[in-house]
Amino acid sequence: MVSWKPVYARRADRMKASEIRELLKVLERPGMISFAGGIPDPALFPVAAAAQVYADALASPNAASAALQYAVSEGYGPLRQWIAEYMTAQGIAASPDNILVTAGSQQALDFLGKLLLTPGDTALVTVPTYLGALQAFSAYEPRYDSIGPRAANRTPASYADEAAKEAAGARVKFVYVVPDFANPTGETLSRPARADVLDLAGELDVPVLEDSAYSALRFDGDEMPSLQSLDVRRRGSLDASRVIHLGTFSKTVAPGLRIGWVCASRAIISRLVLIKQASDLNVSAINQIVMHRLVKDGGHAGLIARARAHYRLKRDAMLRALEAQMPSEARWTRPDGGFFVWLTLPDGVSGAALLDRAVNQAQVAFVPGAAFFHDGSGTNTIRLSYSLPEEAVIEEGIGRLASLLR
Ligand code: PMP
Repeated sequence: MVSWKPVYARRADRMKASEIRELLKVLERPGMISFAGGIPDPALFPVAAAAQVYADALASPNAASAALQYAVSEGYGPLRQWIAEYMTAQGIAASPDNILVTAGSQQALDFLGKLLLTPGDTALVTVPTYLGALQAFSAYEPRYDSIGPRAANRTPASYADEAAKEAAGARVKFVYVVPDFANPTGETLSRPARADVLDLAGELDVPVLEDSAYSALRFDGDEMPSLQSLDVRRRGSLDASRVIHLGTFSKTVAPGLRIGWVCASRAIISRLVLIKQASDLNVSAINQIVMHRLVKDGGHAGLIARARAHYRLKRDAMLRALEAQMPSEARWTRPDGGFFVWLTLPDGVSGAALLDRAVNQAQVAFVPGAAFFHDGSGTNTIRLSYSLPEEAVIEEGIGRLASLLR
């Protein structure tokens, strides 16, 4: 028997199975109502259109030989062009050279960790933050420090001092934020908070990683300018901006094609292209061709409009059920978009212990919030996703959870 532990690299110590993945194992039980996985509703997938476009992409020998071949690492030209125009329409004058197509935005998180973090460097994150980002970054052995309201009295110098404590030369390397309808809280950064993030990054002279996974899924309220558009306005151009914007088609079209993108200065994109080459050469050519044909000529706008209307009804059903049924000691967020409501339980009530009882006694699943806190706090929080269940099922599931809590 090989003794595996001694042969693992040091970074492997930081890799832990995600609680979300472990949890998915019980979701198959009959009768289980799941608010756990933050995944899109397959009812929205453009199945017939995708079938047609895949068939078209293989219809002629010429088309098929491109669709099934290796492709350039930067991404399929027409898709890069489309994404550049999409970003430009949002106030970020981008050219295709500012775009790298990635295998979902998750791959972009990994690549940026690889590009920016030397072990011991500090990543600034909100508390809580997206678990998948912590997992991607942690392989590069960073330290974490917290930004946000909890750290409101921190000065830029205090972040720099804290980072330098670790080792000679260790420093803050970036700020990571999910500004719109965040995973896991559903919350959106206000305009002043966006300006604060840019000010902090400016003072520390570090990039901001803007993860816009849910930004297109706004149900109410005014559109918020992206951090990148605000920074481009401050600095005059995308190539002068320190914001690295991560986009994805996963929540608006379908995650199965695995297509996201990075929009950033050409300097950053050309480095990321080298990492893409070394990692997996390119995103599947046929999937990029299919995605381009699904989103062009108004296709994307149509899918977004449908998704917004669909998820809004589910959000409304969850908030209505929470209002009607939850004991008054529980508090929760009221998201203007996205997939998630974040529930804070009374002090001393553990989200993980509640999950155990919820799954076994009430057949309801959710994600305990603690996994989203890099600092081990947040034990009395849970994440509820409304993206998948039908409205009546949402009402039933919240009812079961409320009875358990009472
Ligand atoms: N960022 C956030 C905040 C997410 O919630 C997700 C998906 N759970 C991702 C990135 C990754 O999505 P994808 O790789 O499918 O683009």
